[in-house]
Amino acid sequence: MNLIYFTNTYPNEESWKLKFKEIREKHGVTCPRCGGTEHYWKWDQWQYECKNCKTRTTLRSGTIMHNSKLPFQYWFIAIHLLTSARKSFSAKEVQRQLGHKLYQPVWEMLYKLRSAMGSRDERYQLASQIDLHEGFFSSITAKEEKDKPLKRGWGSQRKTKVFAKSESRVVEGKTTKKGKPRRVGFIQMQVIENLEADTITPILEEKVSKDAVLDTDDFPSYVKLKSVINEYNPKVSPTEMVGEALPWIHLTINNAKKMLLNMYHDVNPAFLQNYLNEFCYKFNRRYYGEALFERLLTVSVSNKNSFRYNRG
Ligand SMILES: [Zn+2]
Repeated sequence: MNLIYFTNTYPNEESWKLKFKEIREKHGVTCPRCGGTEHYWKWDQWQYECKNCKTRTTLRSGTIMHNSKLPFQYWFIAIHLLTSARKSFSAKEVQRQLGHKLYQPVWEMLYKLRSAMGSRDERYQLASQIDLHEGFFSSITAKEEKDKPLKRGWGSQRKTKVFAKSESRVVEGKTTKKGKPRRVGFIQMQVIENLEADTITPILEEKVSKDAVLDTDDFPSYVKLKSVINEYNPKVSPTEMVGEALPWIHLTINNAKKMLLNMYHDVNPAFLQNYLNEFCYKFNRRYYGEALFERLLTVSVSNKNSFRYNRG
């Protein structure tokens, strides 16, 4: 959505509240006390009243704005920023754009929005042709590791491991020199502790359809995959060739790294998943255009995410 349309459509706090109310009612309001779904709307208080037990529910209660003191305007602007640009925004930058004096509530707002994106994408199971790859993201050294000498390569404390998957389907009716072109569908990226088979296999069991065909590089942990997947094609390639053998997933990981580099030099490993949630959510909806704003708003009315994260 462009900025002019955004500011014309949502000029004041009442317009944001009304839009939020509309989306919330489309999704359905549930009484926190009795589970009832029939409510009266009390205009004078801006609250729902359960028809069954008379319990009152505020417009924010049970949504992503639960317990948030930030105005609706902030949430709408944050949703607009996150859905209108390919790049992302650090909490520091959003804080500056909003002119808000405190950093923490702005950081929490973005954290909750990215968590909501992640929980939406968690519902999907990949199918068809799947490419698997590991990514190593630069991250700040955890406090307890700081005094130890830095290891290099995969075991490095400065690298956080990410397990990435992308699904693709053959584009019918087209053939190029390299064979039939494929179109990428959904991607998923998950921060993992290690690349052992015992870590990776359960993720695939849960997130990948049994009849999918897997392409991976020849990583030892993938050996067990035969037990969970129908067809599995390890591609033995020298390291410098990996990009060619598994082009989509390789490119996608690089784009995710670029998005993060635009915001930070190093990411705290504890929050890397949160940023990857946003990257994958936006990638998976890259053709939605202006509809993405309303999609994220819809996700927001149904994701309470009221937890607080101690930034340490
Ligand atoms: Zn009730």
